[in-house]
Amino acid sequence: MSDKIRVIVSGAGGRMGKEVIKLVLQDDELELAAAVDRSAGSIDAGRLAGLEECGVNVTSDFEAALAHSNGDVLVDFTTPQSAFANTTLAIKYGVRPVIGTTGFTPEQIKELDKQCQDQGIGGLIAPNFSIGAILLMKFAAQAAKYFPHLEIIEYHGDQKLDAPSGTAIKTAEMISEAREELRQGNPQEEEIIEGSRGGYYNGFRIHSVRLPGVFAQEEVVFGGFGQSLKIRHDSYERAGYMPGVKLGIQKVMEYTGMIYGFEHFIE
Ligand code: NAD
Repeated sequence: MSDKIRVIVSGAGGRMGKEVIKLVLQDDELELAAAVDRSAGSIDAGRLAGLEECGVNVTSDFEAALAHSNGDVLVDFTTPQSAFANTTLAIKYGVRPVIGTTGFTPEQIKELDKQCQDQGIGGLIAPNFSIGAILLMKFAAQAAKYFPHLEIIEYHGDQKLDAPSGTAIKTAEMISEAREELRQGNPQEEEIIEGSRGGYYNGFRIHSVRLPGVFAQEEVVFGGFGQSLKIRHDSYERAGYMPGVKLGIQKVMEYTGMIYGFEHFIE
């Protein structure tokens, strides 16, 4: 029996899903158990990812894949609308979820943690798998102790479904844990055009820029007396997330419960 980790990839036909297929097929410690996509058609998963045939055809039947492919881990990069149901079903079948899809609410994460605990399996929801973005969050939380006035600006492609990005929400949460709540700006401020000041979170603002040609960037701008500090991260390509996805796949085999945030694996 192989000791490779058997991975089910959901959203296999998507931009992230294809990278995950490549990762799994090219890594000696991983094995592709199933590839699921609701609209990719029945095509060989290797071919779909631009590699040689691998003998695993993409299916649209997610539950059958969970029931019959003997998967250890589900990697899901689908849509905010389907990821919660996918994760619940995977946990029901004892398949450990590694979720890159963004848009989960805190209540959903709590519920999924309970489901993982009840099943005695590990899970991970990571709004961002890139080490640079995680370091940005950590540095921003540290800086917020000294610079409590800040705004977050995130940039993504114009077809992104959720706003603000999962990374921006996670950054805001980590900053808020380190910073006393403080309502910034002029209390008499009025928006002449609705939304101009961005989304309100714990006293500060988050701005979501959506433009064609943009991949994924985030900036936290801090303002102090006579100075400002900017911390910025730029992602250029999807392959940059894959070392983090692999670490997530390995880690969920080792603990019980749902971990939210890849930063928990980085000292
Ligand atoms: P995409 O639109 O290219 O791909 C999504 C794929 O999921 C599509 O092929 C679609 O057919 C498929 N799909 C949708 N619903 C499905 C379902 N119920 N079952 C199976 N397949 C289904 O999107 P993308 O750019 O690959 O991004 C996917 C998600 O990943 C988004 O939420 C995005 O924000 C997130 N993302 C996360 C990270 C991270 O580091 N965590 C990085 C990039 C993108």
